[in-house]
Amino acid sequence: MRITKGAVAESNVALNEKELEEINKFARSPLKEEDIYCFAVLLCDNEVDRDFERFTVPALMKLSELFVGKTGIFDHNWSAGGQKARIYRTELVTDRHRKTLLGEPYAYLKAYAYMLRTESNAELIAEIEGGIKKEVSLGCSVARSLCSICGEAAGKCSHERGKKYGGKLCYFELHEPTDAYEWSFVAVPAQKNAGVIKRYDKGFSDLHEFLLKSGGEGFIPELETLKRQSELGKRYLEGLRSEVVKLGLLFDEKFDAQALKSAAEKMDERELTAFKAAFGASVSEKLPLVCQIPGAKKAKKEDFGSEFMI
Ligand SMILES: [Zn+2]
Repeated sequence: MRITKGAVAESNVALNEKELEEINKFARSPLKEEDIYCFAVLLCDNEVDRDFERFTVPALMKLSELFVGKTGIFDHNWSAGGQKARIYRTELVTDRHRKTLLGEPYAYLKAYAYMLRTESNAELIAEIEGGIKKEVSLGCSVARSLCSICGEAAGKCSHERGKKYGGKLCYFELHEPTDAYEWSFVAVPAQKNAGVIKRYDKGFSDLHEFLLKSGGEGFIPELETLKRQSELGKRYLEGLRSEVVKLGLLFDEKFDAQALKSAAEKMDERELTAFKAAFGASVSEKLPLVCQIPGAKKAKKEDFGSEFMI
């Protein structure tokens, strides 16, 4: 399952010997202090986000390993293309003074990245240095996403994220990251949605999730109505099928019940209605009217009026 999250470019980082040493682990030829620019990025945290998803702390720890060495790209809205930055180390930071919505200590994954001080990167570096916050989006893969209410795999239970059950918020917990794909800087207009943006490449589990993530929440009530109607339709079809099977067996008991059932499974509503009418007509010709009340006995002459006898 691919996950894409927004994050925030945080600040520039003082370059010292230690940082330089870490960076040079990734450089083809040794880089000097004046060649590089360093900055920190808040990649992700353990807060329930606006998709009602959150990474667990062990998941953040795994991501901190996976993102080391990953190249970040800058989108084409930047004046010159091809600028790249690379994460050279990460840190899981726990802020004991800040609690998440769930009341746990706030933890976040901080990544340190460097880029070359080339001419084409100059403008970008100036903007980061100037404190202009740039949004960062990240893509990763997780093995499991679980419902916070019942622990089932996300989408496999009836709980809907964002809703409350017995006062508890339903959200999906993201477990066991398996891969970190990318992180990228995206130039967006200031103040857009409090500095978090997202990209969705693929991986919607259903229409509900798609609407939720693509700003189409307004259509969710309509989707729910359609779902209910479709359930009704399904039940109607199931009823028709079992009637066709029943009538078919009454029509000719030599019919194989299983074969009849599987034939009915493949029929659409029009075919089922036609079979029902045809079987129904033949059956009522063939069979005399019988009393269908369960447990009803054939009335005997002497029973008549017996209820009035004392
Ligand atoms: Zn659930």
